Amino acid sequence: MPSPTATNPARPRVVVIGCGFGGLEATKALCNAPVDITLVDRTNHHLFQPLLYQVATAGLAAPAIAAPVRHLFRKQPNVTTLLGEANRIDAAARIVHLTDGTALPYDHLIVAAGATHSYFGRDEWARFAPGLKTLDDAFEIRRKVLLAFETAEKELDPARRAGWMNFVVIGGGPTGVEMAGTMAEIARQTLPGEFRRIDPASAKVLLVEGSPRVLQAMPEDLSRRATEQLLKLGVEVRTASRVTAIDARGLEVRPAEGEPYRIESRCIIWAAGVAASPLGREIAAATGATLDRAGRVVVEPDLSLPGHPEISVVGDLAAAMSHLAGHEPRPVPGVSPAAKQMGRTAAGNLLARLEGRPTKPFRYRDYGSLATIGRNAGVVDLTTPFGRVKFSGYPAWLFWLFAHVYFLIGFRNRMVVLFDWASAYWSRQRYARVVTDIEPAPVDG
Ligand SMILES: Cc1cc2nc3c(=O)[nH]c(=O)nc-3n(C[C@H](O)[C@H](O)[C@H](O)COP(=O)(O)OP(=O)(O)OC[C@H]3O[C@@H](n4cnc5c(N)ncnc54)[C@H](O)[C@@H]3O)c2cc1C
Repeated sequence: MPSPTATNPARPRVVVIGCGFGGLEATKALCNAPVDITLVDRTNHHLFQPLLYQVATAGLAAPAIAAPVRHLFRKQPNVTTLLGEANRIDAAARIVHLTDGTALPYDHLIVAAGATHSYFGRDEWARFAPGLKTLDDAFEIRRKVLLAFETAEKELDPARRAGWMNFVVIGGGPTGVEMAGTMAEIARQTLPGEFRRIDPASAKVLLVEGSPRVLQAMPEDLSRRATEQLLKLGVEVRTASRVTAIDARGLEVRPAEGEPYRIESRCIIWAAGVAASPLGREIAAATGATLDRAGRVVVEPDLSLPGHPEISVVGDLAAAMSHLAGHEPRPVPGVSPAAKQMGRTAAGNLLARLEGRPTKPFRYRDYGSLATIGRNAGVVDLTTPFGRVKFSGYPAWLFWLFAHVYFLIGFRNRMVVLFDWASAYWSRQRYARVVTDIEPAPVDG
């Protein structure tokens, strides 16, 4: 099939797979370069994943955190945007193949296909405990949460009703903590007064985490404060507790100490594991690159592949090391600032190759991490030129709020999010509560 992109034969052809944080930055960095870029994504939008849980918990509508890719590059004549899913790479012929049969020849390839959920080999759990990665996931979780309350209102049997009123989040990383905190708020602050047969405030929200504390990547004192803030919101935090089974009606938990037990729950959310995009395996097969245990592609210091300097892998799909001057190389975490920085480095190195200059090793600048725990509470751990700054509570929540608004794509989205949050703050309402598919999930046993 002929290539569907408009290219100038004299200019190098660059294909970028994925318009998440890494692919977007790489494309932006190449916009004014003498290259023709084809940006291919299987969705038509760039998604701001750090606020995805807000869509899942009805705090924001989808367009506020998703920007149409085609619109983002409308003023760049050298960028062709294609909607499609890459599933094969012919590294010898230098062609990317899409599932619909489209073939995209390239001189340089940047792969930024991100990550997906990992159920640690128990993929059958995905039916009962959806993870949060795409807008569809967020809609599914929102549906599950809101319909659980609706079903509880209809259910007359107290034992069966309890299952609909128990909400379980598995995984105590930032996403799990944010989900659990917000779900407790929905139960205690948003829904009371709207139901007649149930008291939504009596709903249980449980956060189950396998390791001894939540927010493992943060210092211990912040993780302790996060737990205190969660408890204040009414979340039951069960650390050092491993999930051993999940089905349509609940889950089984094995605590580090004590007997295994079961929790009846019709609404279980998975926030526990991340694995690289399956495209990693395809890249390894096509190029001989090595994969790490999470399926990420091991890259050279300049983010290219061994033996294939024309291919770079960036973002969550790359097992990359940071080569900061004067420091031992350190693994790069799977966070959005790292993906963005890798995208820029890969683009810079691509231009260096075109101009015959040496490439640069990737250097990750870590500005710290933050998480919010419902309204008015959060934890922040910043790396500044003056040292580490840690704080929690209301100032951390405000900092989190403005940082996320600042990094959102598009002026309109920033305004919409600010307005929605301000209105939710004063009214305690979550306005994005529309659910259209009201059939029960097809997992009932
Ligand atoms: C719920 C959630 C909350 C998060 N919160 C934070 C946070 O608060 N702070 C933070 O720093 N990080 C956070 N992260 C992590 C952060 O979002 C990722 O590190 C970042 O998105 C990685 O960027 P990426 O470009 O590698 O991948 P992504 O941003 O995931 O982009 C990958 C893109 O590739 C496309 N794609 C995938 N496969 C194909 C294919 N075969 N063909 C074509 N297109 C394809 C996808 O549609 C997507 O657009 C969060 C992640 C999630 C899921």
